[in-house]
Amino acid sequence: MKMRIENVLIVDPVKGEFTGDVLLESGKIKSISPRELKKYDAILMPGFVDPHTHGCAGIDTMKMSKEELGKWENFLYSQGVTAFLPTTVSANEKDMIHVSTLVGEYIKERTSTSVYGIHYEGPYINVGKKGAQNQKTIRNATAKEMENVLYPHVRLITMAPEVGGFYDVLPRLKENGTVISLGHTDANFLDMKRAFLNGVDRITHFPNAIKSLHHRELGGVGAGFYLDFNVEMIVDGVHLAPEFVDMVYRTKGAGKIMLITDSIEAAVLKDGKYDLGGLKVSVKDGKATLSNGSLAGSTLLFGQAVKNFKRFTNCSLKELSRVSSYNTAINLKIKNIGRIKEGYKANLVLLDKELNVSKTYLSGEIVYER
Ligand code: FE
Repeated sequence: MKMRIENVLIVDPVKGEFTGDVLLESGKIKSISPRELKKYDAILMPGFVDPHTHGCAGIDTMKMSKEELGKWENFLYSQGVTAFLPTTVSANEKDMIHVSTLVGEYIKERTSTSVYGIHYEGPYINVGKKGAQNQKTIRNATAKEMENVLYPHVRLITMAPEVGGFYDVLPRLKENGTVISLGHTDANFLDMKRAFLNGVDRITHFPNAIKSLHHRELGGVGAGFYLDFNVEMIVDGVHLAPEFVDMVYRTKGAGKIMLITDSIEAAVLKDGKYDLGGLKVSVKDGKATLSNGSLAGSTLLFGQAVKNFKRFTNCSLKELSRVSSYNTAINLKIKNIGRIKEGYKANLVLLDKELNVSKTYLSGEIVYER
């Protein structure tokens, strides 16, 4: 099947912004025709990638059925998301295996899907930085347990480098192609640096749930700035001040930032009471907290995260396409998405000038139209 997208501003994270047309064929980008235009109708960007989301619209990674995962996938098209990782919370071995099996089967049963695997957030994290993770299930990593819970589609795992077993399981994770992200950690600067020197160059929801910066002990926050880490950020204006987002953008640059939602099932639903991995969460004015006031995931939607980042930093559209898709695709070693380039998968999002999603394409098919 062929399709032509005409009169658009094409935004590629590498080549930049130019006007013209794009031809899609057999699920891929067949050709790109740059063309001088006085004005364009819409903005075309690579489809967004969310590597860290626990759920939305009443659907939760830990409790979902395959049918619900399908509904979740469908909903995310409205946000321009064409690749995402359902993300677990700290859980026992049995629950981890259950979720992984379900996601693995779901992917296998489809020829085209935006589900690219799973992200284990915990349980091998620091209890002292648990945030909204259930303390009862937090534990050390062991090689034996890792063998049981590891599948080829476990693309990402959030771990604390100071927690027992971290260096025992590292080689096995690397061999599996699983990307390790440091998070929910009280590691000091040297522990962060040691992990970095061992090839772990990613931080989960920076700077939330990591050790603060002190001028004599830089902590995880200082390590995030000082070392060449790639950092996830929840740009909802609640988890971090807009100025912090801008500060990371100015110091580290758009090449090192990956937007995530960290959304929970309450996203898109009304304010009220919800459950997150066995913990009670209340949502008021879109802000999700535990009874002790800890932030418990977000109700952020990806489309809004993209708009917020642009507003907080005044970045270029090229940079916006880096933080919303390209950086994560590279980081997770997914080769054929995240660019508008010949031969790449036709996973695209069409936006109006206010950055509202108007159309989403998955493998060259329109999967959402406003
Ligand atoms: Fe978290």
